[in-house]
Amino acid sequence: STAQASEKTYVIDTDVTFPPFVYANEDNKYVGIDMDLIRAIAKEEGFKIKIRPVGFNAAVQSVSSGQADGVIAGMSITDERKAKFDFSDPYYSSGIVMGVKPNGDFKSLKDLKGKKVAVKTGTSGADYANSIKDKYGFKVVTFDDSDNMYNDVKNGNSAGCFEDSAVLAYGVKTGLGLKIATKSTNIGDYGFAVKKGHNKELMKMFNEGLAKLKKNGEYDKIIERYTGEKA
Ligand code: GLN
Repeated sequence: STAQASEKTYVIDTDVTFPPFVYANEDNKYVGIDMDLIRAIAKEEGFKIKIRPVGFNAAVQSVSSGQADGVIAGMSITDERKAKFDFSDPYYSSGIVMGVKPNGDFKSLKDLKGKKVAVKTGTSGADYANSIKDKYGFKVVTFDDSDNMYNDVKNGNSAGCFEDSAVLAYGVKTGLGLKIATKSTNIGDYGFAVKKGHNKELMKMFNEGLAKLKKNGEYDKIIERYTGEKA
């Protein structure tokens, strides 16, 4: 019942740097679309949460091993992941793009031959890179968070990185120092995830809360707060 649920604190793991979905603001408070959404849903549904910004792959691992109750981190709903996780209704849509230095000479994926491409461990961007690396002849280098991945491109070690389009688009707008070099490849919408078959009540509350926020305009406000665009 909901009365019982309100006494439990759910541990929710997330990424460290994934703006506009998750990031630390100047006061070192974790904010962003995902953070505002989960907090608003918890408030609406009357449950408590403890948010742990542990990094994307760590968050995914801790949920699948039962050390955290849920993960919200711009996590794409994929068929492969559905074997291990139950996903909420989708709350955002994003594809994968390549980020490169603004003044480089990158024109197409063919230019990656013999070069390095940076990815973040455990992401669909990493899966995508691995699926085309032989075809284009590049080497994949992995990082635990997006900041270190971007830096590897900015310092010229990697020719580019694969990142979610919504995140890179936000980065371009906010002075990250990379540009988008490819068309977006679809990977599936973002969803909140729990370990498959576990935390059914939490998942139910998430979906109910999300539906309420969509209906009462709070969802739109959150999206606009971080993207400047209407949902
Ligand atoms: N959407 C991507 C994925 O699910 C990346 C998520 C992330 O880096 N936080 O793998």
